Amino acid sequence: MEPCQPLPVSESAAIPSADIPVAETDVLIIGGGVCGTALLFELARYTDLGHLTLVERYDQLAQVNSRATNNSQTIHCGDIETNYSLEKARSVKHTAEMIGRYAELLAPEQARRCVFRTPKLVLAVGERECAFLRQRFASFSPHFPAMELLEKAQIAEWEPAVALVDGVLRPEEIVAIGIRHSPTAVDYEALAESFVQQARLALAGSGRQLDLQLGTEAERLVPEADAIRVELRGPTGRRTLRARHVVVNAGAHSLLLAQRLGFGLEYSCLPVAGSFYFTPDLLRGKVYTVQNDKLPFAAIHGDPDVRAPGKTRFGPTALLLPLLERYRPASFWQFLQVLRLDWAVLAVFWQLFSVADIRSYIVRNLLFELPWLGRRLFLADARKIVPGMKLEDLRFAKGYGGVRPQLIDKRNRRLMLGEVSIPAIPRLIFNVTPSPGGTCCLGNAERDLEVIAAQLDCWVDRQRLARELHGESVEAVAAESRSSGSDGPLDRRSEAA
Ligand SMILES: Cc1cc2nc3c(=O)[nH]c(=O)nc-3n(C[C@H](O)[C@H](O)[C@H](O)COP(=O)(O)OP(=O)(O)OC[C@H]3O[C@@H](n4cnc5c(N)ncnc54)[C@H](O)[C@@H]3O)c2cc1C
Repeated sequence: MEPCQPLPVSESAAIPSADIPVAETDVLIIGGGVCGTALLFELARYTDLGHLTLVERYDQLAQVNSRATNNSQTIHCGDIETNYSLEKARSVKHTAEMIGRYAELLAPEQARRCVFRTPKLVLAVGERECAFLRQRFASFSPHFPAMELLEKAQIAEWEPAVALVDGVLRPEEIVAIGIRHSPTAVDYEALAESFVQQARLALAGSGRQLDLQLGTEAERLVPEADAIRVELRGPTGRRTLRARHVVVNAGAHSLLLAQRLGFGLEYSCLPVAGSFYFTPDLLRGKVYTVQNDKLPFAAIHGDPDVRAPGKTRFGPTALLLPLLERYRPASFWQFLQVLRLDWAVLAVFWQLFSVADIRSYIVRNLLFELPWLGRRLFLADARKIVPGMKLEDLRFAKGYGGVRPQLIDKRNRRLMLGEVSIPAIPRLIFNVTPSPGGTCCLGNAERDLEVIAAQLDCWVDRQRLARELHGESVEAVAAESRSSGSDGPLDRRSEAA
């Protein structure tokens, strides 16, 4: 983040507080999706902050993009995502592995509801894709030792429906990179619930406080000299909360709240909705396909749905939709506010539409939503994965799918594909998290924890975090602490719990 100066505090901007009692908290997290709750967990378990608050607009946690039905439930490790470079794959792998390690901290029954182990593979079809995938295997496998190169007969053993049609090997050349058994799928909704539960456990009996306020919307933020005042609307009416630090993990709404304060004006938002189709149980694990590198969005894949046993989900599609939240028409007005349409935004749209592959992809994805035609068009694409799939196998997953808030960088006139942390002021962070935001929830939380610790000068148990979430051995953590000179008894930042 670029360093920024604190905003001047204007009297007129201050929320009138004469008749409203102002509660105080150390850290306020806005948004109870998987990212907000991951931060709550890390602050509770690895710092000594006395008072943590999380507000969520809905009456339940994780009902927007983190909801189990609204995303692809994948831990993106970079091994089967051919749109990731080796460098990106290695960095995503590092944070992705934190989820599997976190699951080991849970009781086995709870871990089984959050994180799932299945085989996974990426499939190449045709001569060009096969040559590409063989080459990728050669360069990636030293960094991903669990990778196996699968020829047609082996694919038929792993995933019969992918390699066989009516019991006979499909005719085209195919090859795959497979990973036999690793944490591959996540119920991000259950994960968010577990984060809050673990945060509560970490604080139990400590005298430290955790306030979870559901059905509570953060309406306005007002920076002060040493805190942020936040106006909240909840079940009992309007209230004001004064927080020493605020992190906004509100998905696309983070941009809306940031821009209302004058931050992130260099961004526009292109919401890309994703829909899914269901089939009966066709796949044993996740099957991805080789990405068309001209397209900015991930190709469709097939995944066993972790909440719907006996069903495989295919998707997501990529539908440009003028909404910040799927199935919530009122969010159209909020979309208009963050669109900030100008020549720079139009230039990016022009760039996208001037590429023939992208143009036909956008139109095709629009057609996928049409009742009769959509299913037939989608079938043609899904047959790349399961060549014997029949029309009657395929059913539109009604009510499924979320919206990826892809940002447009207006200064550089380009579509941004990953997550963005919007530079604001000290004590205030805004995170916008399209895919793979679920995968990176613990990694992003660790980054924000460090920023908060530096601002509030709190104690951080880095040794425990490194041991539990990065799998570093006690000896390695101790050696690193010694080499950085931080193992003295007075070093508040490296003490063990
Ligand atoms: C189709 C699709 C497929 C995807 N597949 C994957 C995948 O396989 N793997 C992966 O890693 N990622 C995937 N993603 C991305 C992933 O779902 C998101 O990155 C992740 O869920 C973001 O979590 P979050 O907590 O930031 O946002 P959300 O889950 O959207 O949570 C934000 C929360 O903030 C709340 N909120 C908003 N405004 C306010 C306010 N003013 N006051 C209080 N609360 C507020 C909302 O109600 C919501 O609960 C996918 C996304 C989509 C749309």
